[in-house]
Amino acid sequence: MYRPTSGLDSPRFVGIRTFMRLPLITDVSGCDAFIVGIPFDTGASYRVGSRFAPEAIRSISAMIRAYHPFHKFDIFDRINVADVGDLAVVPGYAESSLNRITQQLLDLLEQSQGGVPIALGGDHTIVLPELRAQVAYRKQPIAVVHFDSHSDTWDEYWGEKYTHGTMYRRAVEEGLIDTAHSIQVGLHGSAYDDNDWAQSRTLGFATLTLRESLDVGIPATVARIRERVGDAPVYLSLDIDVVDPAYAPGTGTPEVGGYTTIQMQDTLRALGGLNYVGFDLVEVLPQYDGPGQITSLLAANLCWEFLALTALRPS
Ligand code: MN
Ligand code: MN
Repeated sequence: MYRPTSGLDSPRFVGIRTFMRLPLITDVSGCDAFIVGIPFDTGASYRVGSRFAPEAIRSISAMIRAYHPFHKFDIFDRINVADVGDLAVVPGYAESSLNRITQQLLDLLEQSQGGVPIALGGDHTIVLPELRAQVAYRKQPIAVVHFDSHSDTWDEYWGEKYTHGTMYRRAVEEGLIDTAHSIQVGLHGSAYDDNDWAQSRTLGFATLTLRESLDVGIPATVARIRERVGDAPVYLSLDIDVVDPAYAPGTGTPEVGGYTTIQMQDTLRALGGLNYVGFDLVEVLPQYDGPGQITSLLAANLCWEFLALTALRPS
């Protein structure tokens, strides 16, 4: 079993920075989950720079410890996890990058026999190759729990079909998503028109806007997600811009008025027991981050929650 180097064995600032000081490996055979960086940001429509997020998230993750006091277990007593480094992408070329990401992820899924990727984005476009690889491996559409300010279901930007605002529509068109068990949570901010969120429902997603979520509260939000997903194989994708820029300023298309850090943690901590097949944390832009690398620090800790959710999957 792989596990992080403890801060009791050597100080946390010592060593090459992998996620949580996990071993860096290339062969994921026997891994229940693996951390993988996907430094692709060519799909971004406004600010770019999330190509540097995997590096920033790994760097600050050195602080995070193995024992989860909320769930009351050592994550690495339950699951075998390592860091596989970053996938190769082609900066400036979206479709070529998406094809390469799909193939590399599929290779990792086959080698680990369905190990759970925990992907450090990258812009949100990477959810498309992630789902392509999952469906190629599992031979069935995957449910999606999508936390985001934005629906990301537009048809195109300036004539281009493969962007961080259009990939969920592409994924539905390609038959990758089990929309009947999928939900978009946290939608908020200004919009082009009334269709921005309605188009997601037309595609088959359930939606729970940020306002609706806060009105019913976090426990009812979690209950709605659980009811929607059921026992379907599910992919959880978290766009950091669903969190208020007061807590996560380092992102590409910030929208004021999002979840607080604690609301996001509480939501994820209550989502154990679903049949997760993969996770991503996307749209962190370190060069726009605030003091204390607040956004990367949050992102790293949310990925730690993903590891706990992986450990809580039904056997
Ligand atoms: Mn977004
Ligand atoms: Mn997004």
